[in-house]
Amino acid sequence: MKITATFLIRDMPALVDLKQGRMNHKLSGVKVGSGTIGTGTFSVWAGPCSVESAEQFAKTAALVKRFGGVGLRGGLFKLRTDPTAFQGLGREAYDIAKKVKADVALPFVSEITDPRQISDLLDVVDMFQVGSRNMHNYALLKELGQTKKPILLKRGFAATFKEWMLAADYIFKGGNEAIVLCERGIRTFETSTRNTFDINSIALAKIETPFPVIADPSHGTGRADLVVPISLAAAAAGADGLLIEVHPDPATAKSDGNQSLTFAQYETLMTKLPKLLNALDRKMAVI
Ligand code: PEP
Ligand code: MN
Repeated sequence: MKITATFLIRDMPALVDLKQGRMNHKLSGVKVGSGTIGTGTFSVWAGPCSVESAEQFAKTAALVKRFGGVGLRGGLFKLRTDPTAFQGLGREAYDIAKKVKADVALPFVSEITDPRQISDLLDVVDMFQVGSRNMHNYALLKELGQTKKPILLKRGFAATFKEWMLAADYIFKGGNEAIVLCERGIRTFETSTRNTFDINSIALAKIETPFPVIADPSHGTGRADLVVPISLAAAAAGADGLLIEVHPDPATAKSDGNQSLTFAQYETLMTKLPKLLNALDRKMAVI
C-alpha cells in the first residue's frame, strides 16, 4: 500500500494544496504579534490558567518573559465543567490583559467561548484560543474563519485526529489560514492522569498538515510534576512550541492549580529546553 503524505487530509483539498505549496504561497509559520510560530524555532507561550487579578497576571507575565517565553496566555472567559466553579473575570479583565501584555511586550492568547465575544476580543488578544470543549462549535469556527486573527485550535478531548483536522478546515474555508494546532490530551480508559497526552498527534500533524503545532502538557497531564518531562517529549517529537500554565502560588489558583508550574518549575523547564533543542539542531524562538 502506498501511503502518501496527505492521506488523513485527502478529503480536504484546500489543506492538501496549502501543505504542498500549490496555492499562491506556502504557509511559512503563523505570525502572531511581532513573532512567528512554526518556522523551525520553538515558541514557549505561558501564563496562568485564568487571569485572577492585575497583580497575579503582571507577576506571572514578567516571569514568563524573563526566562524566554515569547507569548502570554491567560483565560478571561473560562468554560468550566462545574457551573459553580470560577468562570473567569470576563470583560472586567480586558484592561488588565491589555496593560500587562503591553508592559511585557508579549503577544497574548485567550480563549473565546462565544462568537458574541469576537468584536471585543479583537482588541484584546493577538490570537484567539478555541478550547477543547469548543472544537466542535462549528458556528464559532465559521465566525473565526471570517477574521484575520490567528487561531490556536485545541484538539477536542474526545476528538479523533481527523475530526480535529476537519475543525481546522472550517476555519480555513472561512478564509483564515492563520491556524496553530494545539494537542492538549484526550480522554482514554486511563484515569491516572487527567488526559492522555497524544504524542503521536504531534509528529503526525507535522507530517500531514501545513500548520504549526503547539503542545499543551499542562492539560495533557493535569499534574505539574509531569509537565517538564512531557514538554521535552513534545519538543523531541517536533512540536513548534508549548502552551504552559504557570502561577505565582498554584495552591491558591482559581483554576487548574494542580497542573500549574511554580515559578521555579518554569525556570527549570526553560533551562532544559534549549539544551534538548540544541541536540536536535533547533533553537528557542526569541522576541
Ligand atoms: C485552558 O487552556 O485553560 C483550557 C481550558 O484548555 P482546554 O480547552 O484544553 O481544556
Ligand atoms: Mn487551564
